[in-house]
Amino acid sequence: MSELFYQPLATLAALLASGKLSAVELMQAVLARTQAVEPRVRAFNSYDTADALAQAAASDARRAAGQARGPLDGIPVGLKDIIAVAGQPLTASSKMLANYVSPYDATVTRKLKDAGAVVWGRLNMDEFAMGSSTENSASHPTANPWDLARVPGGSSGGSAAALAAGAAIATLGSDTGGSIRQPAALCGVVGLKPTYGLVSRYGLAAFASSLDQIGPFGRTVEDTALVLQAIAGHDPLDSTSFKTDLPDYRGELAQRRGPWKLGIPKEYFGEGLDPEVGAAVEAAVKFYRDRGCEVKEVSLPHTRYCLDTYYIIATAEASSNLARYDGVRYGHRSKAATDAIDLYSLSRAEGFGPEVKRRIILGTYVLSSGYYDAYYLRAQKVRTLIRQDFLHAFREIDALLTPTSPVPAFKLGEKSDPLALYLCDIYTIGVNLAGLPALSVPCGFTTGGLPIGLQLIGQPFQEASLLAAAHAYEQAHEWTTRHPAL
Ligand code: GLN
Repeated sequence: MSELFYQPLATLAALLASGKLSAVELMQAVLARTQAVEPRVRAFNSYDTADALAQAAASDARRAAGQARGPLDGIPVGLKDIIAVAGQPLTASSKMLANYVSPYDATVTRKLKDAGAVVWGRLNMDEFAMGSSTENSASHPTANPWDLARVPGGSSGGSAAALAAGAAIATLGSDTGGSIRQPAALCGVVGLKPTYGLVSRYGLAAFASSLDQIGPFGRTVEDTALVLQAIAGHDPLDSTSFKTDLPDYRGELAQRRGPWKLGIPKEYFGEGLDPEVGAAVEAAVKFYRDRGCEVKEVSLPHTRYCLDTYYIIATAEASSNLARYDGVRYGHRSKAATDAIDLYSLSRAEGFGPEVKRRIILGTYVLSSGYYDAYYLRAQKVRTLIRQDFLHAFREIDALLTPTSPVPAFKLGEKSDPLALYLCDIYTIGVNLAGLPALSVPCGFTTGGLPIGLQLIGQPFQEASLLAAAHAYEQAHEWTTRHPAL
């Protein structure tokens, strides 16, 4: 078979199960591909070849002993460099954690290992997940495999780019305001942000704890469902994780066939939407309509407050979460300090990049006494209104259809103004504020050959229904079978 590294996870799992392919052969194919494309794509902060091959050999040994663990056994799954893996570096693409090696596994890491997956590589990102282009990484920018002069999106840009380039079979990212869905859209892969509380955050370096969720990237919707199955579920180590029975996400793809009641939020199709993106999303809407789905326009009236609300709550939580990087317990420690105050301020001044500093300053301001009520408290109230908008719409519909990103991949260096980058999140952040599940599935290409993503937003814990609706669309199109000419 040609190009093993571009096969869907589900296909590779069947080959591994039948004995036609070994996990070591698969890992070697992914490794060779990674070595070939990485000098151009630069999706990784680091990878440990010996460790990956040893995990693959262990998978083959298990299988030979009749103890294979399921579809992920022997599959290389790449991790964003903000998710802890025992004995591996965790840098969050920050100088602050340049020399940090994690002493423990995140819960998602442990679950992937329990499922037999080969935990593979440390994928590049915006520093501490703050950004939409992976240009805020302290290591290096990552390129979009579809056009190396363009960004892969962010903050999980490495996770999306590695998958699109064939340097992993599936990956994990984190999504605080769109960081899984937006890079998935810009790189032509599937990305899912789960309902807040479905996937444990234990071992995820925190950015904004009330918004952060870990989620999967897959080459297909089915692959995404398989990875979600492995990482979801209650975890006593994360007090915000939810006790709920998990459906069989892959099994449900065939069971749930619609027709779905779909809503088109009119606020998501306004000014700033690229016409080619708009047309591709309209065509997807038509697909569902032709398939017998009821499609109606709905309104989410507080959408215009999403960006402001997000950038108050996210920065406030970041300023608090990032206070732990003080150069004393861990993190970069300045060599120039002569007293304790100097040690704190110099370590932080040297360790954090400009975007992280901007957010800490903003967040500290909105939390400070005298301003707390005017900013943070008010933002929390508006957040409730935003959530109510969605829940109100869901009384009549099953899911919302929107563009994932207003624009396709832009040029590296093109958006130098922070506000211009913040606007990339306009369609994704409402979902995080409301704690809802949403995914991005490829829905076409621009005339210039850049991928476009369709976002489906669902009711809390209705991932199975979202995946099924996206699967129905994907099966009727050929977008996910295209690959960049690298
Ligand atoms: N781009 C958004 C930000 O910069 C979202 C990032 C994310 O989801 N981690 O905050």
